[in-house]
Amino acid sequence: MDEQFRDSIATINEKGKRNWIYPKKPKGRYHMARVFVAVFLLLFFILAPFVKINGHQMLLFNILERKFILFGLPFGPHDFYIFVIGFIAFIVFIILFTAIYGRLFCGWVCPQTIFMESVFRKIEYLIEGDFRQQIALDQAPVSAKKVLKKGLKHFIFFLVAFIVANLFLAYIAGTENAVGYISASPNKHLTSFIAVIAFSLLFYFIFARFREQACVIVCPYGRLQGVLLDENSLAVAYDFVRGEPRGKIRKDDSSDSKGDCIDCKLCVQVCPTGIDIRNGIQLECVNCTACIDACDEVMEKINKPRGLIRYDSLKGIKDRTRFKISGRIIVYTIVLTILLSVFGVLIANRTDIDIKILRTPGMLYQDQPGDKISNLYNLNIVNKTFDSLKVEIRLLSMEGEIKFIGSDMYLKPQEKNESKFMLILEKSSLSKINTPVEFGVFEDGKEIKKIKTSFLSHVGMTK
Ligand code: SF4
Ligand code: SF4
Repeated sequence: MDEQFRDSIATINEKGKRNWIYPKKPKGRYHMARVFVAVFLLLFFILAPFVKINGHQMLLFNILERKFILFGLPFGPHDFYIFVIGFIAFIVFIILFTAIYGRLFCGWVCPQTIFMESVFRKIEYLIEGDFRQQIALDQAPVSAKKVLKKGLKHFIFFLVAFIVANLFLAYIAGTENAVGYISASPNKHLTSFIAVIAFSLLFYFIFARFREQACVIVCPYGRLQGVLLDENSLAVAYDFVRGEPRGKIRKDDSSDSKGDCIDCKLCVQVCPTGIDIRNGIQLECVNCTACIDACDEVMEKINKPRGLIRYDSLKGIKDRTRFKISGRIIVYTIVLTILLSVFGVLIANRTDIDIKILRTPGMLYQDQPGDKISNLYNLNIVNKTFDSLKVEIRLLSMEGEIKFIGSDMYLKPQEKNESKFMLILEKSSLSKINTPVEFGVFEDGKEIKKIKTSFLSHVGMTK
């Protein structure tokens, strides 16, 4: 019987129908901290499209045109390798982070949890009241009050979804474009209008109806918990050693045989995924901490120490040891730090323009009139910015003439240019077969890179 909870998830009843979860309004110190984090992240999400760094939108994820901007740095298809390394680092980061710290991400920063618990659920509590009033309202016959409350709630839900969809549009198409689409007639931007409405409906459906099932059924991260966690992983956990055997407090019962859990079931009532954390760590638990707050309040009332439900590892609870920094955590943290450092170095050393100058393979040198010698060079330039650039090559190491063959050095945004140029030097300035030369690459009069290569001649051979 104890294992019966494993037969079905909490959101499905014995008839196979949806079991609607009405979680009790959470309150307590963890809840306040989570609200604080949620407000910060929501403000960041809302304001980021309007913030500019280096003249660029702070964050842009234009998948269609393959343009990305991260904190003012533009990235395009040429930076694919950085994205691949970043993605690998991110996956490893998630695996290692979860093995140590469990589902901290789900409870504190996951957009699904933040929007569900800190936006949509709050609106619901405001309009329909706490869980008992919500149950009563749902069971009540249709009335003007019910229609008004439900109508208002769903109208605000859709409005929030519509605002979020437009913010996503700003992240994908750019804020200026998004503002243009919003202020113009939908006929002029039918595709984006349909996309925004479709996304709004999907977003509304997820938070108005689908809710916790996104975490329990759909989220791949949630499904992977079974292989990512072990008994040393930190999680929201019930201290069964201290809590069991559970039982209601009876005035006439003075025996010490009972555990600290008074079986008030408040931890179950506040759970947004409808589970009983006392059954052990479960896949459905999103580590929202609501049960910690609820149980702490109970413990304070019955004069027992807080933390019957707390962040701890299974091993910590079994062995009565506090969670401590182990060798494994230190090694994992070092690996994570190295990965993030490699990614950081790649980002920091990335330049807006990639330039290579190489002597054309297979070509030696050419005699030129006026006692001069020329070498032919290949020039490859990639403009990684979203602006047009005019690039100029100058010889820095000595006097000489540069003659471009073919196209000029005007580069469109994200364009790759391959051209050739001739460097012509006076024979008198050369003293050996291989003379080191240094070019400067200038953009808008400003030197952006120095490149060293060599100049081949027969001067040394004839001496
Ligand atoms: S809130 Fe605490 S005391 Fe109440 S049932 Fe849950 S674990 Fe037991
Ligand atoms: S068990 Fe506790 S932490 Fe997990 S989802 Fe339920 S209330 Fe949140």
